[in-house]
Parts: sequence; C-alpha cells; structure tokens
Amino acid sequence: MRLMQEWNKACVICKAKGEDGIGHMADRCPYDVGGGYWKCMERVRTEIRFKKFSGCFGCGLWQGICHRWVRNPSNARWQRRSGVRCQYSGVLVRAVVAIWGEKGRCFEDDMDSMMRSIEMPGLQDLSHGGFEQGVQFLGKRWQIGEMETNRLVQMFLRWAEAGESPVG
Ligand SMILES: [Zn+2]
Ligand SMILES: [Zn+2]
Repeated sequence: MRLMQEWNKACVICKAKGEDGIGHMADRCPYDVGGGYWKCMERVRTEIRFKKFSGCFGCGLWQGICHRWVRNPSNARWQRRSGVRCQYSGVLVRAVVAIWGEKGRCFEDDMDSMMRSIEMPGLQDLSHGGFEQGVQFLGKRWQIGEMETNRLVQMFLRWAEAGESPVG
C-alpha cells in the first residue's frame, strides 16, 4: 500500500499539513504540537479494539497488507505467521491522530465534534459518547471490495487520498 509506505517513512505531523515530511520523524518535528499529540495518540493506540474481521488486530490494516498474516490455501482464511510482526505497526493511528490535530479537534479530546464535522456514513449516528465512543466506532468493521478493514482505515483513506493535503 503506497500510502502506508509514505506515511511510515515520514513525519506524520508534516504529512498532515500536506508537506512531504521527509528527513525527520514526528518526535523531531520542528512544528510544535506540544504534548497533546502524543497523549491523544497514546490513548487511541491503547483504547482502540479492532473488531473481528476488521483487519489485523495489531496494526489495523487489512491482513492482505500486513506481513503478520498469510492466507491458508486450504480454506482461504488468514492465519498468523509466527515470529512476524506488523511492518506498519502503529502507523495508521499515528497518521490519523496527526490529521485530527491538524484539524484542531482531537487534542482537546473532542472527538465527538470532530466526528460530526466529517461526512462519513455511520458517524452522524453517534450521539454524545465523546472520545471513548469515537474510538470504539473506529475499530468497527468496514469492507471495501475484498479488503476487510475498519473505520479507522476508512477515515485515513478519505483524508489521505483527498489530495496533497488531507485537511479540508
Ligand atoms: Zn515534521
Ligand atoms: Zn498487522
């Protein structure tokens, strides 16, 4: 997945601003995001639970992308490869939270209003559960073509594929 390679090798804070982010990672970013980014990222990372059949439970990506999985030829199911880790571990969460930060919402823990601000099926149904409910929602299953994945991926793709800058 080209996008994952790009976001994995670059500073997500700069990428979220529509810059290339090459040459440093987020912990060395010249933009001052304060502690808010790291706090928020850590919360999403530890609280999100990817539902069954919503991709790799480790990185959140489709199992066809993550090296941790291989299709069992006899029943076409995904099975874990022992000793193999997710090659894009944590990238998805780091990227999405950086984009939220750029939108100026997540760092205030106001995920509820952040979610209402983007048009995505299902999001508007969220009432006022705030951050926790938002994180739960993001771990839910979402399928596009044969790609079984989750709402976090959907959100990332919606932003990251929108153009040079995902911020609208
Ligand atoms: Zn940067
Ligand atoms: Zn994985």
